[in-house]
Amino acid sequence: MRFPAACPHCQREVQVEFADSAVHDVTCPHCHTRFCVFVRKQKFEVLFDLGTRALMDGYAREAVASFAAALERFFEFYVRSFALERAAAQGQTDFDGAAGTLESTWRHVSSQSERQVGMMALAYLLREGREPDFLTAKALGADFRNRVIHRGYLPRREEVDVYAARVFALIDRLLGELGTGAAHAELAQERQFAAHLAALPNGVTAVFEEHPGMFRARRFAGAGGEKLGVKNLYGQPARASAPAQSSSAKTAAPMNDAQAFQKALKERGPLLKGLRK
Ligand SMILES: [Zn+2]
Repeated sequence: MRFPAACPHCQREVQVEFADSAVHDVTCPHCHTRFCVFVRKQKFEVLFDLGTRALMDGYAREAVASFAAALERFFEFYVRSFALERAAAQGQTDFDGAAGTLESTWRHVSSQSERQVGMMALAYLLREGREPDFLTAKALGADFRNRVIHRGYLPRREEVDVYAARVFALIDRLLGELGTGAAHAELAQERQFAAHLAALPNGVTAVFEEHPGMFRARRFAGAGGEKLGVKNLYGQPARASAPAQSSSAKTAAPMNDAQAFQKALKERGPLLKGLRK
């Protein structure tokens, strides 16, 4: 997937291939200067936007694969947020130490999604004090997903819409419950960016981008309309649990999953137009 970025020197548009690390060392094809683009976006957001883009372009099967991957990566994001939030709440002040232990722990589960679902189940129970009711095969749309991904089933657009709406609603709900807890995992990304930034040679300009996507606008709107600052966050007492008010934005007219997804698609789908496969 590629996204457009403006060269900081000649201002012309450059198509950049999205990197797994979200860090992009670029040489402008027009003026040949080097710059580095840091995209403040989590993997699950990138994958969900890619799925949305594929859906809008009529690639139903590819869309399903991206939405399914987005959900898996969101579970990872949730687990990471929870682990770092808890470390902070326990008074750990060494963020890099906590992040390093988390990293080596995640390696035990990184190659098996079933293990990751197990991590998610426990993280949710410990954080919310409730059963993760969304982990049933039915709630996850697992049968549909497996038919498409593993058995070559060619889904109809309506079926993909239903699946996309289900994944969207679940991620949206859990992000709402996570609230400011999500900032802990985002801080980890900021630290990686800082390390890369420190190693950049002189004369290479750093460009930070916040791409609006299907979730980002809503998340930051939910945080009181301000962008979540990550500075000084670590070491501050974290919330012990998510209060009911974190989902107060949703107390308005109840929408079902499909309506909520269609609304987001209408509002934010056009923002994804710049994305290219
Ligand atoms: Zn240039």
